[in-house]
Amino acid sequence: MKYGRTYNFSAGPATMPEPVLEEIRDEMMNYRGSGMCVMEMSHRSKVFQQIVDEAEQDLRDLMGIPDNYKVLFIQGGATLQFSMIPMNLMKNGKAVYIETGAWSKKAIAEAKKVGEVVVAASSKDKNYTYVPDCSDLDIPEDADYVYICENETIHGVTWNKLPNTKGHVLVSDQSSMFLSRPCNVSDYGLIYAGVQKNVGPAGMVVVIIRKDLIRDDLTQLPVYLQFKTHADAGSMYNTPNCWAIYCCGKVFKYLKSIGGLEAMDKLNQEKAKVMYDFLDGSKLFQGTVVPQDRSLMNVPFVTGDKDLDAEVVAYTKAAGFENLKGHKSVGGLRASIYNAMPKEGVEALVECLKKFEAEHK
Ligand SMILES: *Cc1c(COP(=O)(O)O)cnc(C)c1O
Repeated sequence: MKYGRTYNFSAGPATMPEPVLEEIRDEMMNYRGSGMCVMEMSHRSKVFQQIVDEAEQDLRDLMGIPDNYKVLFIQGGATLQFSMIPMNLMKNGKAVYIETGAWSKKAIAEAKKVGEVVVAASSKDKNYTYVPDCSDLDIPEDADYVYICENETIHGVTWNKLPNTKGHVLVSDQSSMFLSRPCNVSDYGLIYAGVQKNVGPAGMVVVIIRKDLIRDDLTQLPVYLQFKTHADAGSMYNTPNCWAIYCCGKVFKYLKSIGGLEAMDKLNQEKAKVMYDFLDGSKLFQGTVVPQDRSLMNVPFVTGDKDLDAEVVAYTKAAGFENLKGHKSVGGLRASIYNAMPKEGVEALVECLKKFEAEHK
């Protein structure tokens, strides 16, 4: 590994593409003849406006975002969206949520503070190890939207088939799978993603929202919490997270350069296969999620013995693999293998786990 870097399997903030970090390094002291670093620049300057415009355009190109959608860069991470979404989209005061793990649970708890939440399906019965069948849900006529967390970062489950919303607006938290595979934006009313999992530095969320869902009758809502504020001001109502926009823009360009989301998806499938093939063949380690709903981004696994799990974490760390401890709420191990994790990193990890297994027969 260059620069003495380690393979970092953190769930977020997470590993970034090395060519992007190198470009940022090269532009650090003097961004393209501007005489300053991007973090020193006025967000009202022409040179920064170009950075924002290009970031948005590159994201639109990557995802094929239709013209009737706004792209917003907002602060407060993905977490603020747990509140902003019900505050802005609950017209009738009612929404349907699907509970598939820790992050949808958090979103449900916040939405309940705003209006009525109907949990139409849940995988709680099996400790969030699968995605429930959502082909024929009981969805109240007056529900304002149906909400999913499309990739549960902690529990490692992914939606491979979107729920049948029966004509209702679909809202999706894509934080930990954003830009990992092609996405048909028109299937959604709103997509959002905290960027520190798959795209850039922490502290910013990308919101892709259908224009007709942006309301102008919410004048009682604090101005910063209205989507309209951010949409009208081109994401610059106040000083945005300039640094995150700049870094994310670089990642968007990088993804375009390697062939876009189809190419990324192919590579992600190959990487995940290395991991899951190993787990399926192992006598010591087991994946925790049913095969058809396994995440390509976050791979939770266990030995079935807490002390041994802790030993694995220490063993892999000593071998140069960072952040394999499972989330404190579920324990065990978790390898987050986002877009920027190279296939060689996953292969090297599997070799290390095989070695551990051989030594612990
Ligand atoms: C990390 C994460 C969040 C929270 O993101 P913050 O930017 O820390 O607020 C929300 N949803 C999912 C699916 C996540 O992985």
